[in-house]
Amino acid sequence: MSGTVSPMSLLPGGVATDTSSNLANEPLTLGVMGGGQLGRMFVHAAQAMGYFTAVLDPDANSPAGRVSHRHIQTDYTDSAGLQQLAQCSAAITTEFENVPAPALRELAQFKPVSPGADAVAIAQDRAAEKAHFDKCGVPCAPYAVIETPAQLDTALPANLLPGILKTTRMGYDGKGQVRVKDAEALRAAWQDLKQVPCVLEKMLPLTLECSVIVARGRDGQMVNFPVQRNLHRDGILAVTEVYEGHLPSDLQAQAVAAARAIAVGVNYVGVLCVEFFVLQDGSMVVNEMAPRPHNSGHYTLDACDQSQFDLQVRTLAGLPLTQPRQHSPAIMLNLLGDVWFNDQGVMRLPDWAAVLALPGTHLHLYGKTEARKARKMGHLNITGTTVAEVKKTALQAAAILGIEAF
Ligand code: ADP
Ligand code: MG
Repeated sequence: MSGTVSPMSLLPGGVATDTSSNLANEPLTLGVMGGGQLGRMFVHAAQAMGYFTAVLDPDANSPAGRVSHRHIQTDYTDSAGLQQLAQCSAAITTEFENVPAPALRELAQFKPVSPGADAVAIAQDRAAEKAHFDKCGVPCAPYAVIETPAQLDTALPANLLPGILKTTRMGYDGKGQVRVKDAEALRAAWQDLKQVPCVLEKMLPLTLECSVIVARGRDGQMVNFPVQRNLHRDGILAVTEVYEGHLPSDLQAQAVAAARAIAVGVNYVGVLCVEFFVLQDGSMVVNEMAPRPHNSGHYTLDACDQSQFDLQVRTLAGLPLTQPRQHSPAIMLNLLGDVWFNDQGVMRLPDWAAVLALPGTHLHLYGKTEARKARKMGHLNITGTTVAEVKKTALQAAAILGIEAF
């Protein structure tokens, strides 16, 4: 295994030169930690540019593992698995933020890894993440870190209630969060969360939520997608809308500037998504960041000249970045497992034929065999020439699928 990190680009069409293994003369392989849907779409983008791919994920049926040239089926911390991934890959990325940071550090001893373990470690911990936002001068919701009973009882600023108690680690899609209205509910909620380290955030009056995706190369060059407007239901992204007039332009400029500052502040390499809340008084605060492509960026697959996964490939391979261009107004509907159940709770296959008969619909399914409620099974992108047309089609598709209108 080569112990040096090459500053050179991993050009498409290049072949592996490692004569010590059976990789010689194979196309260059890009590796990814994690085999979920984000990994799958990364694999598709990498393969479109002629790379081979390797996915490390313990699940035999992982969405990305099933479409990759290689699937290393071990735990994320298994040293033999990590060795194998480092050996066959020319560079390695990650597709979910709870990849153990030490595993990324181990891989980085052998091959370029982006995003780096330090950035991922910050995004994995809500307290560290908020400290990073402070450092970058980007305001977030008022909060307090709760690690001891004393911090909860005596040292708690009163203005944080009603609030949301969130575990500092491992939360996603609204999991690991409890809404608390008073001190008593807060104490009970922390007990329920097994007294793990948490942050208590003030419950803010939101008018809307938005997010922005930036991509930053190893040389510091940075590009961004337009700002997405997001609708969450039960803590899970339901709808993303991106078109002329979907957000005031000053808010968009503010979100892009904040996301760029957050990326620069951690010397980020790769694709980064930053989520924001816009409050009723028109001000904006940052919510959280994801060190990878993001569900709210899936519209880029069909509405932009480069997708967020294309940019993940480019940043990983050290290729030039050019500012992506959105060529169509777009709405993305998330397809949760709920869509596979009818009103009586009986399982059904969604009426894809009716959906695909609508002009401008692009169906993406992640190849998951079992539909469960709240599980992300796929998404539907809707594009068109006008905003009115896209909205109309999106509402028709939502009605066919039994998704609540927006
Ligand atoms: P996750 O990591 O699960 O996405 P978030 O912190 O983004 O967790 O919270 C999920 C959703 O809950 C947000 O998108 C937003 O709708 C709502 N939410 C979270 N924090 C607050 C807050 N401080 N005030 C109001 N709503 C919030
Ligand atoms: Mg979130």
